[in-house]
Amino acid sequence: MRIAFLGLGHMGLPMAKNLAAAGHEVVGFDVFPAAMEAAAAGGLAVADSGAAAVRAVSADIVITMFQSGKQVLDAYGGVDGADGLLDAAQPGTLFIDSSTIAVDEARAAHELAETAGHRALDAPVSGGVVGAENATLAFMVGGADADFEAAKPVLEAMGRRIVHCGGAGLGQAAKVCNNMILAVSQIAVAEAFVLGERLGLSHQALFDVASNASGQCWALTTNCPVPGPVPTSPANRDYQPGFAGALMSKDLGLAEHAIVATGVEARMGMLARQMYQAYADGDGARQDFSGIINTIRDESR
Ligand code: NAD
Repeated sequence: MRIAFLGLGHMGLPMAKNLAAAGHEVVGFDVFPAAMEAAAAGGLAVADSGAAAVRAVSADIVITMFQSGKQVLDAYGGVDGADGLLDAAQPGTLFIDSSTIAVDEARAAHELAETAGHRALDAPVSGGVVGAENATLAFMVGGADADFEAAKPVLEAMGRRIVHCGGAGLGQAAKVCNNMILAVSQIAVAEAFVLGERLGLSHQALFDVASNASGQCWALTTNCPVPGPVPTSPANRDYQPGFAGALMSKDLGLAEHAIVATGVEARMGMLARQMYQAYADGDGARQDFSGIINTIRDESR
């Protein structure tokens, strides 16, 4: 496939490199000069703008991996005199946005692409930079069946689990729902460990019971927020991420947006949103999100 890959940041550059390594013809672009330098140093072909990258390969597929929905919509349509990606592409090009953005923004991106005569998928990921480097990302995909089938072999060069979640925006919906579960469960596990400490229960004893009982969950058995029971968890390396508090806070902002828009009574999700926003306003931004246990302990009497 001929692929234009736009957004060569922490996630995008290793993803683009994996596509090139799998034999696809890839041309990249990033607005940030240091990202362009890293891409060129890594052997990736680059162009002078997003539209130029699309034209350079006469792209079958355009992948975007940006920070926000506004960046995606602006790049599709073109702003500040820059050519839009949609105008630069040949009719029927498949636009895949892998950024984590709001469900309604993803649906707006689908609509823009389709109105311009193209096809679109939202395909956010989980698995972090390690997953991007090792091509083990999980993709959650929203869009038409035929477009999903066309994209699948390309996504498989970057990831391991590729799930078609339904129509436009439903990849983002799956991501936001999953991360809301994760945030709430990580807080619940952290609170239980601090409560256990106050009651005289050892971390190992609580872990041995809960990990084999109904309290079992990823936040406990993989991302255990205290050092010891799970040697590979971020708690054993001073809460170096892992998944940084800033990213969890961003994703919960998208969850809040969806909760408000749908009118769902999601009290736990909203509380998790507040707690992670406060966590990311401080040192937690760059620490693993399991480090919220330290805030809970510090704020306990
Ligand atoms: P990043 O900030 O490292 O990279 C994004 C890149 O997009 C930046 O280099 C930026 O300059 C570039 N960009 C913005 N607008 C552009 C445009 N119009 N044209 C070309 N380039 C443009 O972010 P990241 O960590 O790579 O994350 C990317 C997305 O993946 C985000 O939406 C994030 O929420 C999501 N995500 C990240 C992780 C993670 O662990 N980092 C995990 C899962 C999902």
